[in-house]
Amino acid sequence: MNKFQYSPPKNAPKSSEELIEDLQLVAKKLNTRKITQKLYTEHGKFNCSTFINRFGTWNKSLLKAGLQLSNIVSYSDEKLFENILNVWQKKGAQPTRRDMNTTMSEISSGAYNRRFSSWTSTIKEFIAYANSKEISAIKNEASQVSGSKTSRDPSLRLRFHVLKRDNFSCVQCGASPAKDQKVVLHIDHIKPWSKGGETEISNLQTLCQNCNLGKSNIE
Ligand SMILES: [Zn+2]
Repeated sequence: MNKFQYSPPKNAPKSSEELIEDLQLVAKKLNTRKITQKLYTEHGKFNCSTFINRFGTWNKSLLKAGLQLSNIVSYSDEKLFENILNVWQKKGAQPTRRDMNTTMSEISSGAYNRRFSSWTSTIKEFIAYANSKEISAIKNEASQVSGSKTSRDPSLRLRFHVLKRDNFSCVQCGASPAKDQKVVLHIDHIKPWSKGGETEISNLQTLCQNCNLGKSNIE
């Protein structure tokens, strides 16, 4: 059915019908019934978050529009937790369900709900995971080169504990993503790993990108 489309101003409130119509339009235009959030962002008129706020999840929006559910990707727990830590690090505070549906997160809250049934239980599982004992520092081949006993990259648990100890702020200048979204935090080896410094909590610190780059320029 071809018809003229009324285009309301971009920031006007959208009716559910308008949202669904545009979703269907994109499906028609691209000649596919599988519309991912990425595809819709490239071709649609509205923000995916508008759909999620209105209908609950992206898949529910697809159902409303009579479209196929996008392929459900299942992630490993490690990957799910890693993404939470990344968002936690970017935000500088415990992420909310809503944060998971912003550009800070690679995985949407839907995936967490499928795995852990709610956001509250997701966070509880994450904390339990982060607090569980490190199995043991993994020794890899590269570590023989540097003389360090531990591998270079801190595990997710270790990263979480360093960030938490340092209040998700740079230990040198105090910058924190909670105060300034532009701040990016790094986990830094106090004694460089390449010089035999170990990847363990006492040799790790939180630095913002600026301080960390400044440090590597001096070395
Ligand atoms: Zn700093």
